[in-house]
Amino acid sequence: MIVELISTGSELLLGDTVNTNVSWLAQELNKLGYSVAYQSVVGDNPGRMAEVFRKAGQRADIVISTGGLGPTQGDITRQVLASSLNRNVVYNEDAMAEVRQFFKRVGREMPDASRREAMLPEGSSVLENPVGVAPGVVTVDGDVTYILLPGPPGEMKGMFEQSVVPYLSKRFGSQGVVTSYRYAIYDIREIDLEERVMDLIKQQSNPTIALLIKKGYIELRITAKAESLKAAHDLLNPWAHIIYRRLGSHIGRELDVSMEETLGNTLKDGSATIATAESCTSGLVGKLLTNVSGSSDYYMGGIISYSNDVKHRVLGVPQKLLDTYGAVSEPVAKAMAEGAKRVCNTTYAVSTTGIAGPGGGTANKPVGLVWIGVTGPQGTVAHKVNLIGNREDIRLSAAELALYYVNL
Ligand code: ATP
Ligand code: MG
Repeated sequence: MIVELISTGSELLLGDTVNTNVSWLAQELNKLGYSVAYQSVVGDNPGRMAEVFRKAGQRADIVISTGGLGPTQGDITRQVLASSLNRNVVYNEDAMAEVRQFFKRVGREMPDASRREAMLPEGSSVLENPVGVAPGVVTVDGDVTYILLPGPPGEMKGMFEQSVVPYLSKRFGSQGVVTSYRYAIYDIREIDLEERVMDLIKQQSNPTIALLIKKGYIELRITAKAESLKAAHDLLNPWAHIIYRRLGSHIGRELDVSMEETLGNTLKDGSATIATAESCTSGLVGKLLTNVSGSSDYYMGGIISYSNDVKHRVLGVPQKLLDTYGAVSEPVAKAMAEGAKRVCNTTYAVSTTGIAGPGGGTANKPVGLVWIGVTGPQGTVAHKVNLIGNREDIRLSAAELALYYVNL
């Protein structure tokens, strides 16, 4: 069942209003198993609106529009649909009853202009509006069903949930279940990750696979559609096995659980504690760790050692290392972690030292270079990462990766 969403309103084209209706509707429809194949945005121009409606009718089974159902002369969606279907607009008794009921409910007199809201394309039926005045409109033309919803997001959502969903399910039955598994993949470049799952990408139809770049990791999502949740899982599980086999420890976590919770659980399971020594992230790692309620069980504290002096005096990083290798270096990252472990008396410690930019990069140490030190009972290691993005992106990515490396 192919759906096209049409958003009407010149304010959307101007960028004044963010088109939240379309993303909300797309998510809801996809959850119900409908394929949203097209999204169109058009201004309040009758000719162009009619063109968009005609086009949608040629390529979709269900066309859902938002906006332009109000009582003013500028609210023309009903007339435009009628004209694109070569129908007249006619007075609709049910729509009028809905409008009257609204004004009765709020104890106000009905303005004359609201009669416009009862003028619908010939042969239409009405969807109840639980929130506002204008009733929704359903017009069936051959194989195509047009559904007109109001523009204000609250009204649109209320009408969709209370009127459109029951209508669709009665008319078209269940469209099955769509479900996804989502993984956070760390420490691999997007092109390398793509290469590893290229065969899945090439053969995808159901399940489908998608890679999305996030801060510090790549979201890998596999999605299946089936009659039941169990049948969808049966489609996804073989792919999940392949993905686990190929990517192993690059899979930092399943995406419903944050990295800080994942690491927190690991530390709790091992009755272990952790400390932080942060330079370029300046507290972001500690912030993430303490996002988790109960993190005081394992997070002892940290040192924001932004200057070399604090790295040296508080963390005990040898001055010679700072002078020889510079603050952004493998030995300094290791010594920072070891210093934090000692000062805070913990099982593990993690450090970050890098160049968040935009200034300060050199040919050898470009913006985005971050060293992450991890020390624990097995000794000390440091991981070098080259991050991309602006200062904020680099710092957030480094903090996320610091937690990943501790959890490895
Ligand atoms: P009204 O009776 O309020 O005129 P309407 O159905 O005619 O409702 P519009 O006039 O098109 O709807 O839009 C009303 C308001 O709803 C807009 O000012 C805007 O704030 C919001 N709106 C419209 N379309 C969208 C959209 N796609 N995404 C988010 N908000 C929207
Ligand atoms: Mg309006």
